[in-house]
Amino acid sequence: MPVTRHLSPVTNKMVARSTLLFLSRQEGLKDFATRFRPFKKLTTRFVAGENIEEAVAAIREINAFGATASFDHLNEGVTNAAETAGEVREYQRVLTRIAETGIESNVSIKLTQFGLEFDPELTYRNARAVVAEAARRGNFVRVDMEGSAVTQITFDIFKRLRAEYDLNTVGIVVQAYLRRTAKDVEDLLKIPARIRLCKGAYNEPPEVAFPDKRDTDENYVRLMRVLLASGTYHGIATHDPKMINATIDFVQREGIAQDAFEFQMLYGVRRDLQQQLVRDGYRMRVYVPYGKTWYPYFMRRLAERPANVWFVLKNMLKG
Ligand SMILES: Cc1cc2nc3c(=O)[nH]c(=O)nc-3n(C[C@H](O)[C@H](O)[C@H](O)COP(=O)(O)OP(=O)(O)OC[C@H]3O[C@@H](n4cnc5c(N)ncnc54)[C@H](O)[C@@H]3O)c2cc1C
Repeated sequence: MPVTRHLSPVTNKMVARSTLLFLSRQEGLKDFATRFRPFKKLTTRFVAGENIEEAVAAIREINAFGATASFDHLNEGVTNAAETAGEVREYQRVLTRIAETGIESNVSIKLTQFGLEFDPELTYRNARAVVAEAARRGNFVRVDMEGSAVTQITFDIFKRLRAEYDLNTVGIVVQAYLRRTAKDVEDLLKIPARIRLCKGAYNEPPEVAFPDKRDTDENYVRLMRVLLASGTYHGIATHDPKMINATIDFVQREGIAQDAFEFQMLYGVRRDLQQQLVRDGYRMRVYVPYGKTWYPYFMRRLAERPANVWFVLKNMLKG
């Protein structure tokens, strides 16, 4: 009898989430999955393609229903300097293509793409090169937030960039599941900074992150209110109808304009809700990942909704 039969649905979900997040970091499985054609095919639900042009095509469709986008080149945890230089060139090409095509999009970067795990100074210089290109083109760079081992250094590098570039050129992400985030938001708003609020997608120990989803959700609503009351333009990133309704209730009650902030969602997740919010007059930005190294990103999406695993297995069995 499977052990999980004795566990509550909530515990089952937590076990599934931790297992999938554990698998997302397994290099052997990553090599297998990225070479296994049927598995690769399934990623098309969450990943826009392997190259810039496929992502441009996806963004045109997103723009067509009235939403904007954010490019994300998938390649986290880069381990050598030469590869980080390739990432800088890739983002410079992306910013050039946005300008050439006239699509409505900014870019999101992960600092581990630029060397954070082995050379923070190189990471800063790489990120700065991308932010400088965005500044030249009147575009915007969002620095994604990764696992808690790099939270502080990510804020430190962001603050250096923000000291050199204005509010509308570079922004940051905070994660509602982290215990430290309320304080971080307080500090960031003093700069000020444009912030994307999300729940958080990594496996974190209970000392640093709330183990209970209800605490994360409560913190999310609290932080959303602080951000939207601040008068700076922020991103409310979630697919959770409870978080979205709390946001709408708050802005209506406080008389905050619909164009004073944006909702943000991931490519392939709740497109119905993305379109509904646009129809209701809200701003929507869709995060569009593309690239060959999609495996960890894809596994985090499965972990967020273990029901997606059945979608994957069903399709694998079909052929
Ligand atoms: C634009 C954007 C940028 C992000 N950037 C970061 C970042 O920089 N750092 C970081 O740690 N995390 C990031 N995340 C991920 C985020 O932290 C969450 O892991 C993710 O958004 C799921 O949380 P949720 O708010 O949607 O709520 P949940 O409580 O996880 O989900 C609520 C409901 O949304 C739907 N849903 C959620 N996820 C999925 C899915 N994968 N497939 C299908 N349905 C789903 C389901 O109906 C689910 O019941 C980002 C998310 C978005 C939308």
